[in-house]
Amino acid sequence: MKKYLYLFFVILFACQPKTKDTSNLVSVSILPQKYFVEQIAGNLVQVNVLVPPGSSPHNYEVLPSQMKDLDKSKAWLQVGLLTLEDALKDKLANINKDLSIVNCSEGITPIAGTEHEEEGHEHSANEAFDPHIWLAPADVKIMAKNTLNALKVGFPQHSSAFDGNYTRFIARIDSVSAVIDQKLAQMKNRNILIFHPALAYYARQFNLSQIALEFDGKEPSPKHMKEIVDLAHAQNIHVIFIQKEFDPAFAQQLSREIDGKVVIIDPLDYSWEKQMLDITDKIAAQ
Ligand SMILES: [Zn+2]
Repeated sequence: MKKYLYLFFVILFACQPKTKDTSNLVSVSILPQKYFVEQIAGNLVQVNVLVPPGSSPHNYEVLPSQMKDLDKSKAWLQVGLLTLEDALKDKLANINKDLSIVNCSEGITPIAGTEHEEEGHEHSANEAFDPHIWLAPADVKIMAKNTLNALKVGFPQHSSAFDGNYTRFIARIDSVSAVIDQKLAQMKNRNILIFHPALAYYARQFNLSQIALEFDGKEPSPKHMKEIVDLAHAQNIHVIFIQKEFDPAFAQQLSREIDGKVVIIDPLDYSWEKQMLDITDKIAAQ
């Protein structure tokens, strides 16, 4: 009996969750930022991502368990233009006063959001600016610099390692830009039709024009749908891009009306460099 009791305690002890060492924990809002942090910090920091794969950063509500991890973090590297970041900022101020909140969009010229003020219609100030800055390599270089600075403040003992990794990452971002430039050089029709307007910063950097099916962040009205169909006919567009998180019903309906096809892209994936090139290949092939 004693033996079993002993075994019981051994098992009980082994099953106790180890207290996670969170001394090197940083939080980010979206997965591509985890990629940026890891290019600079390698495994010197642990990264907590607020918006899980498959969720939209525009309407995601952070879980209480995630609030705990956020609270334990040394810093929260924000995209800087997302609604959920604004909504949480006030809650956090009451919990962890030491959490350093870093706006990674600082230094980037923001693009106005698609939501317009309507008279007599109360509009929340959310996403007055388009938040998709992580999809243009030129802007990601600025995000990377802000990330580097924040990491050096949080973990000064690793500064020189961060600096070296950062320099190499910037060189890779430059080569991603160069490859995209080259792949898009021959494109004559520089209009891209997309369900959710995620490529505004990408379009700005690579001299493309983005046409969105979503309207004011909502599903398109029949009137807007018709306008887009007419525009697509006029511009000879036969491809509509959609992110995998979104319901493809409207995109499919549109594709039938323009005799085209729906192409899925994944701009919220962790593997940022791979996705930038994948998106580019799909645009170049349209
Ligand atoms: Zn988006």
